[in-house]
Amino acid sequence: MFLFTLISAMLMTTDATTETRIEAKALPYAYDALAPAISEETLRYHHDKHYAGYVAKLNELIVETPYAGQALEEIVRTADGPIFNNAAQVWNHEFYFEELSPSAQHEPTGALAEAIDASFGSFDAMKSEMAKAAAALFGSGWVWLVEEASGKLSILPTHNADTPLRHGLKPLLCLDVWEHAYYIDYRNRRADAVAATWDLVDWKAVERRYRSR
Ligand code: MN
Repeated sequence: MFLFTLISAMLMTTDATTETRIEAKALPYAYDALAPAISEETLRYHHDKHYAGYVAKLNELIVETPYAGQALEEIVRTADGPIFNNAAQVWNHEFYFEELSPSAQHEPTGALAEAIDASFGSFDAMKSEMAKAAAALFGSGWVWLVEEASGKLSILPTHNADTPLRHGLKPLLCLDVWEHAYYIDYRNRRADAVAATWDLVDWKAVERRYRSR
């Protein structure tokens, strides 16, 4: 009985500790699943070093702050400085990894396809506007397809960790244009990396985001 109590107490302590931590999510596919557009080496660095690094740093920073125990999205919406930077990078990367798939649906359908046509003229025009924004973004950042409050879709470039969640916009899709996302495979050719990403973007996942309220 004593042993049982002791083990229960240990388990409860473990639970209490993990509760306040942000857990790194596993990739939703194998490391080599997106090759050759995104190599296994790139994904190992991107997920295991960069993304997991932001998670570890965030957990260090939130110890004994009001953010410990908060949901990731809540931290992203309210924090500033290094806590915001690391939390937003965690959120942005999870959003990015989740929208890619080795068996992607290559085009939007239904209401999302209609909204893209209404906002940009065509799907190709949307992709080209997003690619142009990726090429024009100076330094590190992200390029987003977002839904405005009016229902109009638009392209939003953000610097560093900045994210549409802080601009009252609903994110639907992102491109990671930090050099770490493409330098192993494409060196300085960011435009080629963006072009190759289109084959992996799963519009089924983007449609789910668009439908969710
Ligand atoms: Mn990245």
